[in-house]
Amino acid sequence: MKRKIHTALLAVCLLTASTLPHAATAAAYTATVNASSLNVRSEPAKDAAVTGSLKQGASVTVTDEAFGWLKIRGGGVSGWVAGYYLKKAGNPGSVATAVRSSGTASSAARSATVTASSLRIRSGPGTSHEVKGALKERDTVTVLRSEGGWAQIRTAAGETGWVSGQYITGSGGSTSTAAAIKNAPTRSGGIRGKTIVVDPGHGGSDPGMLGTSYDTMEKDLTLQTSLYLRDYLAAKGAQVRLTRSGDQKPSLARRVQIGREAGADAFVSVHYNSSPKNVSGTLTFYYSEDDDLRLARSIENRLGQGIGLKSNGLSFGNYHILRENTLPAVLVELGFLSNRSDESIVRKAAYQKRAAQAIAEGLSDYFSR
Ligand SMILES: [Zn+2]
Repeated sequence: MKRKIHTALLAVCLLTASTLPHAATAAAYTATVNASSLNVRSEPAKDAAVTGSLKQGASVTVTDEAFGWLKIRGGGVSGWVAGYYLKKAGNPGSVATAVRSSGTASSAARSATVTASSLRIRSGPGTSHEVKGALKERDTVTVLRSEGGWAQIRTAAGETGWVSGQYITGSGGSTSTAAAIKNAPTRSGGIRGKTIVVDPGHGGSDPGMLGTSYDTMEKDLTLQTSLYLRDYLAAKGAQVRLTRSGDQKPSLARRVQIGREAGADAFVSVHYNSSPKNVSGTLTFYYSEDDDLRLARSIENRLGQGIGLKSNGLSFGNYHILRENTLPAVLVELGFLSNRSDESIVRKAAYQKRAAQAIAEGLSDYFSR
């Protein structure tokens, strides 16, 4: 959505293009249609002309994206489709499912190495289970099976137990073990005591989108909203880690790393949007179709309950901050700075608080199921 910018905003685009998280979509990839019939449109908008349609299972090449829409070619047509109805070929969600189910077979036992400086061994797959021991960085273990982001392991000394799968990697230099059993948690027991990473988008030399009517800077709105979100989450008993608390610009990789190091339970990246179309409202993005999508549904459900702007629903988003994340992660876009009315609303603390409260409630719902 950052890359489809009206000519009037071209200067902004040139200034920020190299640093935008949303610029992470350059590489084309293959996806299949996950709807009985999917309209292909001339532009990335619901009211754009229909230029063709695709059937369930059709394979297409995705070359670009803009505010939840994906530019595709294949099946004899080209144009834009709603991203929600495409399923990326070989996405981590399917991999995780495959590993989890095959992981129960004894032949799936494999060697792995500890990547954290210290890693607790527990009696079961979750932080509520008793601690039985600990491992050090570079210790080697045998992985017996994987479940919900946790790995049952046997130590070199023959002791067995469970460790969080995100802190071990498979032998042979592959990170596929960790990636495959990502999306850890322990989704039960409520939000109290859970660690949530709140990521205010942009910052420092990267202002993000600039409002077209009031010169609002996205980086300021994301920080203000994130600070409110921190307060609402803390009031619910959650531990909160911010990826920035002032006008800094951590790299995208660093933001992801903060969540991993904190051993956090969920990650929320806060953004505000822009579009050449006269569009309005919020959008909630996910990458993996297991925990990211469940978390996105919980949050979108609350955002859709009247915070002052309508919700445009959920969308697949191929963003670094989601794709490279080992935690259940979502990216929320809380309104369009290119829309005069949206911009006047999102500038106000009252809106930012309502949005933050909705996100906090959504997280709480997610951990209460
Ligand atoms: Zn942004």
